[in-house]
Amino acid sequence: MAIAYIGYGSNQGDRLANIQSALSAIFERGIGTVLRKSRNYESAPVQGGGPGKFINGAVEVMTDLEPTDLLHALQRIEADLGRTSGKGEKLPRLIDLDILIYDSNILKAGDLTVPHPELPNRLFVLRPLNDIKPDLFHPLLQKTVSELLEAAPAHVRSQEIGEL
Ligand code: ATP
Ligand code: CA
Ligand code: CA
Repeated sequence: MAIAYIGYGSNQGDRLANIQSALSAIFERGIGTVLRKSRNYESAPVQGGGPGKFINGAVEVMTDLEPTDLLHALQRIEADLGRTSGKGEKLPRLIDLDILIYDSNILKAGDLTVPHPELPNRLFVLRPLNDIKPDLFHPLLQKTVSELLEAAPAHVRSQEIGEL
């Protein structure tokens, strides 16, 4: 049994419905149990004019799956919900599910890096994690989420993000 923190995001279609479907699928498919969910945050589109705004948040999930199996299960949810876009914050996406933290694991497998490397650089990840568990410890940076939020550089803290 492990505790994983999963970040979610959607910027296409009925964003809240997409998020709800993805989170329901986590339980329905036996991937894990969602113990806590953050508030939803809306981020301004990336500079240069991407598509619609993202809604982002994070959940705390109790799971029996190993990290790689968890990633693949999340990718199946993304595919089944109709995600077609590839990598890139500028692309429209129905749903994006990332493993942010998995217990105190530090992993760099072929297709999986945990903790998620962009975690400390994204306000739309730090804020939701801080909602759920401010004292969550980042095993690589050796700081809690609330410390990471407080210590975030100006370019991170100035990211435009609103509570939904
Ligand atoms: P970012 O990872 O910067 O948020 P993204 O979510 O837009 O970018 P995707 O296209 O969803 O990127 O995924 C690209 C690849 O990232 C996937 O093939 C996956 O194997 C890999 N990946 C590596 N680490 C993780 C992780 N912790 N969670 C989810 N995917 C990961
Ligand atoms: Ca992502
Ligand atoms: Ca992703």
